[in-house]
Amino acid sequence: MMSNNEKTRFYQDKSRELAGHLDDQSFLSENIDLLREVIRFHENRYYVMNDPLVSDVEFDLLYKALEKTEATNPSLVVPDSPTQRVGPGITKQFKTVQHLVPMLSLENSYDAADLLEWDRKARELSGLEKLSYCVEPKFDGASISLVYENDLFTRGATRGDGVEGEDITLNLKQIKSIPLSATFSRYGIQQAEIRGEVLMNKNSFLKFNEQLLEQNLPPLANPRNAASGSLRLKDARLVGKRNLEAFIYHIAYLNFTPDHEEIPSHAKSLEMLWDLGFRSPVHEKKVFLGIQGVIDFCKEFEEKRDELPYEIDGLVIKVNELSLQEKLGMTTHHPRWAIAFKFKARQSTSKLLQVEYQVGRTGSVTPVAKIQPVPIGGVTVASISLHNQDFIREKDIRMGDTLLVERAGDVIPYIVKSFPELRDGSEVEIQFPSHCPVCKTALVKTEDEAVWRCPNERCDAQVVERMIHFTSKDAMDIRGLGDAIIRKFHEMGWLKDIPSIYQLPLDELRKMEGFGAKSVTNISEAIEKSKTQPLFRLINALGIRFVGETTAKTLAQSVSHLLDLATMDKEALQQIEDVGVKVAESIHQYFSNPANIEMLKRLEAAGLQLKSIKQASVDGSLKGKSFLFTGTLYKMKRAEAEALVESNGGKILSGVSSKLDYLIVGEDAGSKLEKAKKIASIQILDEDGFIKLIQKPTDTQQSAQHL
Ligand code: AMP
Ligand code: ZN
Repeated sequence: MMSNNEKTRFYQDKSRELAGHLDDQSFLSENIDLLREVIRFHENRYYVMNDPLVSDVEFDLLYKALEKTEATNPSLVVPDSPTQRVGPGITKQFKTVQHLVPMLSLENSYDAADLLEWDRKARELSGLEKLSYCVEPKFDGASISLVYENDLFTRGATRGDGVEGEDITLNLKQIKSIPLSATFSRYGIQQAEIRGEVLMNKNSFLKFNEQLLEQNLPPLANPRNAASGSLRLKDARLVGKRNLEAFIYHIAYLNFTPDHEEIPSHAKSLEMLWDLGFRSPVHEKKVFLGIQGVIDFCKEFEEKRDELPYEIDGLVIKVNELSLQEKLGMTTHHPRWAIAFKFKARQSTSKLLQVEYQVGRTGSVTPVAKIQPVPIGGVTVASISLHNQDFIREKDIRMGDTLLVERAGDVIPYIVKSFPELRDGSEVEIQFPSHCPVCKTALVKTEDEAVWRCPNERCDAQVVERMIHFTSKDAMDIRGLGDAIIRKFHEMGWLKDIPSIYQLPLDELRKMEGFGAKSVTNISEAIEKSKTQPLFRLINALGIRFVGETTAKTLAQSVSHLLDLATMDKEALQQIEDVGVKVAESIHQYFSNPANIEMLKRLEAAGLQLKSIKQASVDGSLKGKSFLFTGTLYKMKRAEAEALVESNGGKILSGVSSKLDYLIVGEDAGSKLEKAKKIASIQILDEDGFIKLIQKPTDTQQSAQHL
């Protein structure tokens, strides 16, 4: 068997070899098994190990080559080909299927006393002094059960009632961390039933909720609901777009051939699953001898809960030795060899005291519930978005109602439901205002939208929110001008609109109480620095509806001057990559407004960068060179460094591969560095080296100096 390093090198070599034959159909069809294996390897690196070895583009080329080869030679298609994830059409109804082994639930524990008691019983039943425990996260998603037969993924089901679940095989095939085949046969296993949890990570969840809101659909309370809802979608192709992940943490059933090797412990079974290509919690798990270590670990882990990219609602403690698990057995409800340690609940009830209406930078009026403050998961929650009028109606929320409130991780708090049964008759319906609470203009609502908007662009609330967005971190990043200061300067009449940021009366500011010379200098420097921000940041900063950072980048690359956008009609705008009807409409509207053009001209006069760096980048000093950063940089932020590379004509890659020219290494560099060291063509530089490289004059400048 190959070692991990050998395996990595093998697949990397093969990737390169295949990449050299992408147009050679006869080579590809002869080597189609290898091509598939290489693609599976990269899928595993990306989706399971979270450590890709090639860039997305390199991967896509291989994948497209496979699709093409299979399309021209249909007889070569196999059921576990990476292309076979894409299911056919719509499922009308999910079949009910019986689990090979019932899925039990877990006993819960909440504190050290519960764990001590559970440990005492387990020791008593096993007759041992001290037991070895394996502790792992209790993933807060939707549980699934997978069957593999003769190495092929044949069936996947929901938990259902534990005995029977719904057959969601097609949907599960869309989740890339679930391999379509796994070589169980290597372990002498013919059939296996394994268990795990499907999750939507916090980041994907936030984006998903944003999309829902944009489509006038109510957002979901937590990633768990998002995951379980996604698994029941009738159209499998939609499942693939939801960015779901699967953790596999349990082997429920194995059908061994006679000469199999015994798996001694739970920890070993996690290793085996990992080795087979599943994302099992091998790295997350920890084994302890005796319960005390477990108890300490539970306390520690709860503190770190929010640092994880996905939600967990506790830890699961399992007796590590499998023979002991068998000996301990189960009650009718749960195994005696495992217990869940539940973290503090993140739900609570509270009363709705008042509804306030906030006007956003696009005029959208958002109702915000002011509730009796309640502590949830270590944070006091006093105010929660009610999103829009439809949300209030659907949740049947009235003033004075008792509400169930949830705060999932660093996800924003959410109103799960109201309790109509607790009403005493004093509750009143929430009256949505007909006029803007700030400027009193009559609100408007288009038919295809759920939000009411204040149509007055000079509305004070909108003006302030636009400035707050303009100066924010991902936009122009003007530090020192925070929300509160912007509001204050606006009230004082200093900040009337975005261009007025560049005319702040600094001398008067210096005289103001609370503003020392140092803080004024900082503000002034931050404002000056913002003038050199690349065009895409300015576009993002303008807050044009539907134009976020990604669209801002494509826009910046498709014009040579920002005002070019004003000359383009909707059709022309739609020619730009990723710009659809809605976005084109919004951009067109923005640039058809003379007030906006006037404002942009004032910004240009103030010295801001309205020209695209596109031109400059063509002959930038880093032209044609590719970069990747790892570890923490000290002299600049990662995003700034990347922008520098791009503005000098260089390219940022997503992973270490032979295509990489420079790896820039900060403090605490990770596995990328190790990997890069193995590829001789990659130059490894520290931050200072990088800065020198950037400052090195280009060839043309050099020759100019010699003249
Ligand atoms: P409960 O639903 O509270 O009884 O908890 C049992 C459920 O926890 C199981 O059905 C699993 O879906 C889920 N779970 C999440 N992570 C794990 C894990 N690491 N080990 C076992 N079960 C887990
Ligand atoms: Zn208004």
